[in-house]
Amino acid sequence: MSKIRKEKSKFNSIQFRVFLLILLFGLIPMFAVRIVVLRSFEEREVAAKNQEISNQSKILATQIAASDYLNNLDSEVIDAQINQLSNVYDGRIMLIDSTFTIVKDTYKMDEGKVITSQEVVSSFRGETNSRYDREYGFLEMTLPITNPGQKDVIGVFAINMSADTIMANRDFYRNRANVCLIILTILVFFGAAGSSELIIVPLKKLRFALEQKKHGLVDEEIHVGGSSETEILSNEINALVADMKLVDASRQEFVSNVSHELKTPITSMKVLADSLLSQEDAPAELYREFMEDIANEVERESKIIDDLLSLVKMDKQAAKPTITLVNINEFLETILKRIQPIAEKAGVELVLESFRPVSAEIDEVKLSLAISNLVENAVKYNKEGGGWVHVTLNADHQFFYLTVEDNGIGIPEDSIERIFERFYRVDKSHSREIGGTGLGLAITRNSILLHRGAIKVHSELGVGTTFSVRIPLNYIS
Ligand code: ADP
Repeated sequence: MSKIRKEKSKFNSIQFRVFLLILLFGLIPMFAVRIVVLRSFEEREVAAKNQEISNQSKILATQIAASDYLNNLDSEVIDAQINQLSNVYDGRIMLIDSTFTIVKDTYKMDEGKVITSQEVVSSFRGETNSRYDREYGFLEMTLPITNPGQKDVIGVFAINMSADTIMANRDFYRNRANVCLIILTILVFFGAAGSSELIIVPLKKLRFALEQKKHGLVDEEIHVGGSSETEILSNEINALVADMKLVDASRQEFVSNVSHELKTPITSMKVLADSLLSQEDAPAELYREFMEDIANEVERESKIIDDLLSLVKMDKQAAKPTITLVNINEFLETILKRIQPIAEKAGVELVLESFRPVSAEIDEVKLSLAISNLVENAVKYNKEGGGWVHVTLNADHQFFYLTVEDNGIGIPEDSIERIFERFYRVDKSHSREIGGTGLGLAITRNSILLHRGAIKVHSELGVGTTFSVRIPLNYIS
């Protein structure tokens, strides 16, 4: 089975195709030239012979007409000339009179017989006919005999002669051509084999370099010269490998971050439990206090797991959004109503301002998560007292636009680029204190990208932060 596949891939290879192409493009014209040249040679020979016989016969015909030979047949000179012509061309000459009777036959076979073949009849109309029979190797001609200066045909010459010399010449040149063809075919074969091998060399080098890299024998970038194609290919491969390394590194970082984040609450719980266990007569209040802490850690652990699950669900490749047409004004009101108590508790004023009624095709659950995260963050990272969060909604014919603005603590400039990364927090301990997992904005971003939207952030430390979101009104799948 694998042998068959190997054979198949051999015939499928570029090398084999190049070899075949060169071979075909080399051989086909050669064979075509051979056929055309030999055929032309033969045709020219036949034409020359026809012309020669025709000339001789015309001279003879003039003499026959002048001496009225057809009627009395008693000219020895003409007899001799006809016989000579027949000998020279190794053929048979017949003289036919106006009654279609053969009056002279150099083979003495058909004298006195009547001949009404198509060619003879047409020659009595003044036409000269010639036919070359390649298969049996003879030439046939019929020529009219007319009185000098007149048009009337008084008789016809029928000449039938061997084409042996033409065929012998043709065979001689054919053999020569065949020998040349064999030599050229061998040359083209080796030329094609060599060229196809040469063309494939840079690709073989590339394959070798890739195999070395695959088996981990080399770690550097691949650089295979020899052709611009392989250079481009090696650059593309290097870029791909670099991308894959990045993806791998980010995946590894994510896994280590997840483990770390999940381990932190467990470590805290273990510490709390151990310290309780180490005290023999710990008072009930201490138990209560520690158990409350343990319950908080459990809650935190479960929040991280929830967020991780949301993040996975929001992954562009895995997620298949459930799209419905939603009234965005009502949708936002519902979200804000839910967050209102948290805002009140934090002393933050929450305001929604809609500039127009908007309906859009969205995945309600996924987008709700994204907007909630933004508004919750705006409340969480706000000032104590005097804080406000301003949410606006606007739209044009293509998109709807959301802004979530706060006058909170702001984000330092060097962190702005990183806040959408998973587990990134500007102030880890502060975020932890207020129940942050560092996953909220990553979830938000993924959800917005899933809706083919975009998100931007503008922030000033100590002044406030504005997140601007743009989402198409119609979902583009
Ligand atoms: P977290 O769970 O910590 O809130 P997020 O991914 O939601 O994680 O946010 C990442 C970080 O970005 C936060 O830890 C916080 O430092 C910063 N951040 C997010 N939103 C705001 C905001 N509105 N004002 C100030 N900082 C913010």
